[in-house]
Amino acid sequence: MLSMKKIKKFFLDTLFPVSCISCGKNDVWLCRDCIKTIKLNHKQLCPICEKLQSINGETCHKCQGKNSLDGLLVCTDYRENKILKKAIHLYKYRFVKDIFKPLGKIMHKKLAYSSLPIPDIIIPVPLHSKRLRWRGFNQCELLARYISMHLTPGMEIPLYCDVLLRKKHTNPQMSIKNYQERKANLQNAFEVSKNNQILKGKNILLVDDISTTGSTLFECAKTLKKRNAKKVFAIVLARPKPKKSS
Ligand SMILES: [Zn+2]
Ligand SMILES: [Zn+2]
Repeated sequence: MLSMKKIKKFFLDTLFPVSCISCGKNDVWLCRDCIKTIKLNHKQLCPICEKLQSINGETCHKCQGKNSLDGLLVCTDYRENKILKKAIHLYKYRFVKDIFKPLGKIMHKKLAYSSLPIPDIIIPVPLHSKRLRWRGFNQCELLARYISMHLTPGMEIPLYCDVLLRKKHTNPQMSIKNYQERKANLQNAFEVSKNNQILKGKNILLVDDISTTGSTLFECAKTLKKRNAKKVFAIVLARPKPKKSS
């Protein structure tokens, strides 16, 4: 059944044709020239302490024992790339689904320039069914699909969308100000649906749109490692600074 939201979107798309959110060029949400102006991060930080630098965002030696995530690639800096911020907002909160293409392109570019090995499988950060109904699509899944189709020419990397599940409906991270609360909120929020062997010995690439504190990715990585995944690396478009606790 079509929801009011979808009907409204259909009429808006018909009445107001698509144009580049940055330069206004017709028929694309973000044109090739404007994508080129988005600067990719060259230096990456350890995802946990956010202090030690590396080329691929590997978790530093000191933090390795404390966390299951092996590394995180952050494509761009939010503050320096206002167009990207706008694109992500339209994608997540205005339901402009097609923006997954330029955003996927940015992620693909970052991965292609990195020296990370090609992952065995790609897993998007899952949404709870409630949230999926609200948005109508999983924004991470579309990005993950784009990467799986484009990263190795002529070969699709297996994409597992129904293996990692979000069983707890948690409040969106940005609205929880206190760090401890935020962490507790996500404890045991994820589970692996299929049999034990499916992730065994696999190098996994986790895909999320943005990550503020990293808690979601850390919790996903922990869940995957419990099922014997070998390495869990993640990629996000940006890492906005968390809002100050009040
Ligand atoms: Zn443009
Ligand atoms: Zn570290």
